Amino acid sequence: DAAINRIAAGEVVERPASAVKELVENAIDAGATRIRIDIADGGKTLIRVTDDGCGIAPDDLPLALARHATSKIDGTDLLNIHTFGFRGEALPSLGAVGRLSVTSRAPGHDAAVIRVSGGRMEPVRPAALSAGTVVELADLFHATPARLKFMRSDRAETQAIADTVRRLAMAEPAIGFTLRDVSGGGEGRSLFRADAESGDLFDALHGRLSGVIGRDFADNALRIDATRDGLRLFGYAALPTYSRGAAVTQFLFVNGRPVRDKMLYGALRAAYFDFLSRDRHPAAALFIDCDPTLVDVNVHPAKSEVRFRDPGTARGLIVSGLRHALAEAGH
Ligand code: ADP
Ligand code: MG
Repeated sequence: DAAINRIAAGEVVERPASAVKELVENAIDAGATRIRIDIADGGKTLIRVTDDGCGIAPDDLPLALARHATSKIDGTDLLNIHTFGFRGEALPSLGAVGRLSVTSRAPGHDAAVIRVSGGRMEPVRPAALSAGTVVELADLFHATPARLKFMRSDRAETQAIADTVRRLAMAEPAIGFTLRDVSGGGEGRSLFRADAESGDLFDALHGRLSGVIGRDFADNALRIDATRDGLRLFGYAALPTYSRGAAVTQFLFVNGRPVRDKMLYGALRAAYFDFLSRDRHPAAALFIDCDPTLVDVNVHPAKSEVRFRDPGTARGLIVSGLRHALAEAGH
């Protein structure tokens, strides 16, 4: 069973950044308003995610770590996925590839902690925590040296984690995020910080994008808001005259989930076809929201690809939504 967990774990957790993604998504699902991420040595020796979300009751802690246990879906409706988590795979996978501890306090309960190492679970013990959840993952892949070997430098893994946190932060402007490198001990060094934004959807998003991508982008971007056949597209896309840092500033989200999807990138490029030369990529942060039954996010455990029931609608929405905004702006 420990072996099965380790194999399955490899699918969910490819590198420290994928562990960070799973843990932060859990914190988001838990309704957190502040999420703090501490890492050491590129996440290889420590990843700690602290949230002020709903917490987990002591009796539920062993369940949270059991394979295919999820509090978010009853198993009968795999297509109807509203939250990030839906497989109940992340925590057991992390417990199989590192030393995992989950300390949590749910309202009306005492705080408690559970530890797992090499897939073996220890009994739940009392702990001290005022609210929320702290998940600590130490020594990732210590039991799978083959995988350790494939990890990149601390610097590269840190970069990948920061990129992951930035993308997650873009999709959740109302949540405050901090990412710190605590390799040296103590409070460590700030790698990223975004305070909770307030205001309506577009105000909050504009504020968050100013902080994450840059003022320069946000102030030179068109507001996008379009719908088609049950799909809503919103966000900000750069004016064709904006040229800085273009290659690294395409951020796409489906139902709040960061995705890297060829079809969607292609649609974005097509929308700007008349305005940008082939080697230029339009900067944009775009969100598609739709009924979960219209999109399959279950293609791969890493969940960065999506399959729309009707890809043509998604593509058409992006192309027409952006062209419309460009035309309105006089392009
Ligand atoms: P999934 O997210 O797919 O449900 P996970 O293995 O990531 O599966 O988490 C298992 C369960 O543990 C979740 O369904 C949730 O009930 C609980 N859980 C995990 N992280 C947190 C958290 N930060 N706050 C509250 N509950 C959590
Ligand atoms: Mg999860």
